[in-house]
Amino acid sequence: MTNKYKHIFFDLDRTLWDFETNSKLALLELFNNHSIDARSGKPFDKFYKTYKSVNEFYWRQYRKGDLKKEVLRSIRFTRTLESLGIKDVQLGSVLGEEYIQISPYKTTLFPNTLETLNHLKNNGYKMHIITNGFKEVQYIKLDESGLAKYFDVIIISEEFGKNKPHPSIFNHAMERAGSEFESSLMIGDSIEADLLGARGVGMDQVFFNPNSVSHDYTFTHEIKDLEELKAFL
Ligand SMILES: [Mg+2]
Repeated sequence: MTNKYKHIFFDLDRTLWDFETNSKLALLELFNNHSIDARSGKPFDKFYKTYKSVNEFYWRQYRKGDLKKEVLRSIRFTRTLESLGIKDVQLGSVLGEEYIQISPYKTTLFPNTLETLNHLKNNGYKMHIITNGFKEVQYIKLDESGLAKYFDVIIISEEFGKNKPHPSIFNHAMERAGSEFESSLMIGDSIEADLLGARGVGMDQVFFNPNSVSHDYTFTHEIKDLEELKAFL
């Protein structure tokens, strides 16, 4: 191996684990199990679109620190139901609870995830996870989707106490992995959390950009498919 990189740090959600697809599958299950079509007279598509925009709104509040985790989990469903004409706070909180129970067990990964991880493992790279998320769901995702066995160090922001892009979470991950920034590479889908965070501590970066979102940054590498990592790793 002539490459300068020895340690590859991956983000989890929307980089390896297909958050959008898995979330949609979980929401469809809830929609069917609770006969929301019959109660609202609206198709799943309407429920899904409404949930997405409501969820985004409350996530912004949560990130600002204006909302507790438990409140976020139920209010996004209570408000979604409300805008479909169902006033039912109890059902909102049941959906909030069940969504957290169901979604981490969904196992859709991005195309070529396991093939690429096998390739990297066979080529002697040490691989690690740095993820912003809640510990009770991130470990389930890693186990259920067959990802866990590829990674030596797994850092979950809730456990560590700081989220990416805070430099301390990257430094902590490198320390745990026994790596230096010169031989480390961060791969992720979030410009702010993953890429600017990694750059801030001197790590090279790979922007995983499957939807070809346009931007003005220059990162070390940019890929649309994980398989493209094989070209330089
Ligand atoms: Mg991500």
